[in-house]
Amino acid sequence: MTWELKNKIQEILAKETGAQCFAPGARRAFAFLYPNSYKVGMSNLGMHILYQIINGRGDTACERFFLPDGKTLAEYKRTKTPLMSIETQRQLADFEIIGVMMSFEMDYTNLLAMLQMSNIKLRAAERNEKEPLIVIGGPCATFNPEPLAEVADVFVIGEGEEVINDLLDVVYKGREQGLGKEELLLNLAQLEGLYVPRFYTPQYDADGNFTGMEHDSRVPAIVKRRWVRDLDKYPNTSAILTSETEFQNMFIAEVARGCGRHCRFCMAGYCFRKPRARNYDLLLDKILNRPAVSEKVGLMGAAVSDYPQIHELTSALIQNKVPFTVASLRADTLDSLLADALAQSGQQTMTVAPEAGSEKMRNIINKGITEEDIYKAVTLAAASGMKNVKLYYMIGLPQEEDADIDEMTEMVRRIRKKMDEAGNKGDLIISVNAFVPKPFTPFQWSPLCNTKILKKRFKMLETAFKKEKHIKLLTESLKETVLQAALARGNRKTGQFLLQAFMEGIPLKQVLKNSGLDIEKLAGAEYEPGCPLPWKHLDMGFKEAYLIKEWENAKAQRFTPMCFDGCKRCGVCEE
Ligand code: SF4
Ligand code: SF4
Repeated sequence: MTWELKNKIQEILAKETGAQCFAPGARRAFAFLYPNSYKVGMSNLGMHILYQIINGRGDTACERFFLPDGKTLAEYKRTKTPLMSIETQRQLADFEIIGVMMSFEMDYTNLLAMLQMSNIKLRAAERNEKEPLIVIGGPCATFNPEPLAEVADVFVIGEGEEVINDLLDVVYKGREQGLGKEELLLNLAQLEGLYVPRFYTPQYDADGNFTGMEHDSRVPAIVKRRWVRDLDKYPNTSAILTSETEFQNMFIAEVARGCGRHCRFCMAGYCFRKPRARNYDLLLDKILNRPAVSEKVGLMGAAVSDYPQIHELTSALIQNKVPFTVASLRADTLDSLLADALAQSGQQTMTVAPEAGSEKMRNIINKGITEEDIYKAVTLAAASGMKNVKLYYMIGLPQEEDADIDEMTEMVRRIRKKMDEAGNKGDLIISVNAFVPKPFTPFQWSPLCNTKILKKRFKMLETAFKKEKHIKLLTESLKETVLQAALARGNRKTGQFLLQAFMEGIPLKQVLKNSGLDIEKLAGAEYEPGCPLPWKHLDMGFKEAYLIKEWENAKAQRFTPMCFDGCKRCGVCEE
């Protein structure tokens, strides 16, 4: 360990408000690992919520680990220093349990790197009872844990607030009883919301295609995801504030969870259904009594403007002179009150997500937003004094044609014209990503669009906007899109190839090629509804028949209305 590295961590800690540090040995040690940088990880509200719950037990100390950036990472490697925690600068390998928050497929390799730097064996089967137990949760673990099944001892399927206490209780009790790792894992596998992959064995046909999952008779055949019915029993705000994140000292508050809009591409809308709102009085009280150091409040939720008391809340924040911002807005629920409130809080850019440029495509994805809604948002942005407008789009969606891209460029031009007419001289920023099919959505069976077609369509957009001074086009790397798509719907074998690629220091694409596989073919696989899928032994609460119906509705461009009281359509509200 070098003193420079230790000092650096202590400097980070000194800039924080709210971190809880316990002397090593005073409590049992739980490592919370976020497989990305401190800046990214500290903006993750799930990490803050679990930090409060784990430390609130009284018997466990939760300490954070992040992937060090550039120079610090090089220094760790140069000095062969194992990764250290923020709170006490202890080594990761000294922790009894390592909890990982996995939000993005592109962070899988970061997790492997962090474990390797910490001298922790990557494969769960090689770690004995004295070595840390690795528990992976978060959205990626929930919708398809299989690519990391060799690494994790346990996955949390669904929301973590309730299950984290159950997990710790079972582990601590098992250790007191002197249980071995196998018995301990067997006990954990009985808990709703926990998946222990070693008890489930994927089956393949002679061509290596996944055909189903066999399970040990001692564990449930189907793993039900866990969801919190009463959110207000659990914390909903930032635990730690710091100036070292993207949004300096922002106090994040969750207003609602889940989304009932049924956009057909949206994993979050399906895996974290149903929509649940936080109690207004409790929420406001927490915000008004936030730590003095906080500069701005960030209202968090899948669709914040759907919060039933959004106007009461924003009016109260304005009255109390609380600057705030929102994580996501739907153009159809935006009005002048909300736009003015955001502008008064210093927001310079109105961000909305039409997701698709033609009405046909918006019907296919069930976005439920019209071009008129976007015009209204643009006009409101200008009237409230916001300088820029940012629009999020996807291309490569099922049934998309070149004509839909032409319609998108026309739509963008019309929006620019509206901005000019409204006197808005700021930029129109168009962020375009390729659509990646995700498990547990009605589009889970559709392929990633062919990369040649994607390249052509990105080129069409670049050509269309090249000469437009006030239209800025942002796109992402197709290489990353293909990798993300291959991992999102990957199986346990994909995970084995990923481990091999990491160990050998070569790209996954190359490892696959050496084994006669093509990453683009994997990413572009098309499945028949009803076929075996590597995540089918998990239960998100809705029926597969509902997804199939929604897939048919997409093809027929039929609209599906949002969730409502008394609805029993998808199966989640029957639980
Ligand atoms: S509005 Fe649509 S895209 Fe946004 S969170 Fe809800 S389902 Fe997902
Ligand atoms: S049963 Fe109806 S209200 Fe409940 S989550 Fe499903 S669609 Fe929404």
